[in-house]
Amino acid sequence: MITLRTNIAEMAGYVPGFQPEDVASYIKLNTNENAYPPSPRVIDAIVREAGEGLRRYPDASSRLAREEAGKLYGFDPSWIVMANGSDEVLNNLIRAFAGEGEEVAYVHPSYSYYGTLAEIQGARVRTFGLNGQFEPEGIPDDYAGRIFFLTNPNAPLGFTYSQRYIAELAGRLSGVLVVDETYADFAEENSLDLVRSLENVVVTRTFSKSYALAGMRVGMAIARPEVIVALNKIRDHYNLDRLAQAAATAALKDQDYFLSCVGKILQARAWFSAELIKLGYHVIPSSGNYVFATPPDRNGARVYQGLYDRRILVRHFSDPVLSHGLRITIGTMEEMERTVQALREIGP
Ligand SMILES: *Cc1c(COP(=O)(O)O)cnc(C)c1O
Repeated sequence: MITLRTNIAEMAGYVPGFQPEDVASYIKLNTNENAYPPSPRVIDAIVREAGEGLRRYPDASSRLAREEAGKLYGFDPSWIVMANGSDEVLNNLIRAFAGEGEEVAYVHPSYSYYGTLAEIQGARVRTFGLNGQFEPEGIPDDYAGRIFFLTNPNAPLGFTYSQRYIAELAGRLSGVLVVDETYADFAEENSLDLVRSLENVVVTRTFSKSYALAGMRVGMAIARPEVIVALNKIRDHYNLDRLAQAAATAALKDQDYFLSCVGKILQARAWFSAELIKLGYHVIPSSGNYVFATPPDRNGARVYQGLYDRRILVRHFSDPVLSHGLRITIGTMEEMERTVQALREIGP
């Protein structure tokens, strides 16, 4: 008889977005991957690293990548920890701050994986809904949960919270405010200044979306050195392999390539959003590399199926607060033109 911990036995487990085997035969707009490949310099760096040196352990502190990130964002490397995808650092933040039975909170809808990670830890989960102005509702003034995750820009809806709101929220939480900035590179603002000025603000980033490295698994947290010291105690000591460290460092260095890809995605986002509106869709103005759009009949499942039949994959959530719409990743202009054509065929 095998006896699991009760919380593990009872939890459902997270279901990642669909990754089809014959991916090349789809227009794949369902998991917010980058429309463009990683920088050629990143590929060169990985190939250079893939030699006999692999028999040696990697640098346990991912020093070069942290130094490069520190230069780019204006932080001493002691304020940065690299992670095996930002999912790893989200997990380690919960382990650092929320013990069994303590509370972890996040906004619904946002990234439900926070809840899964909290369940694994045996922490309690609390969610706060959004009001019509996209502000979380009902957070008590003296809210004492150990950790609050704010996804900014919000995923899947794409809107942003103002920096003023985030600072105000941080000020009335007695726990830590983790701003998950997975999509901040596609937005106008970010909370890095709040990390400098407020003690309880932590920012997480990933290379999976804006740097086109979802397959490499690299993320990071930027926080006060006391927090970084704690995260360093918890993480796997060799959490980034040699290839991932080389890739991350090269990706951060090649800002010209990075900015040109982000620029193309922002152009396609503006064009695609305007086309959706012409088709009668409701579109939330997006600061990410995706848009959340609702067809006139509010039947997201119907349009999902119509696109799927035309081998265009987007994300439909069965959650009742999201099922009326679709989250559509911004691909290349050509992919977005073909998606608009398909939506015309499917009809409003
Ligand atoms: C994609 C995503 C992540 C996970 O990023 P990885 O670095 O690939 O683990 C975290 N948060 C949000 C909101 C995401 O959309």
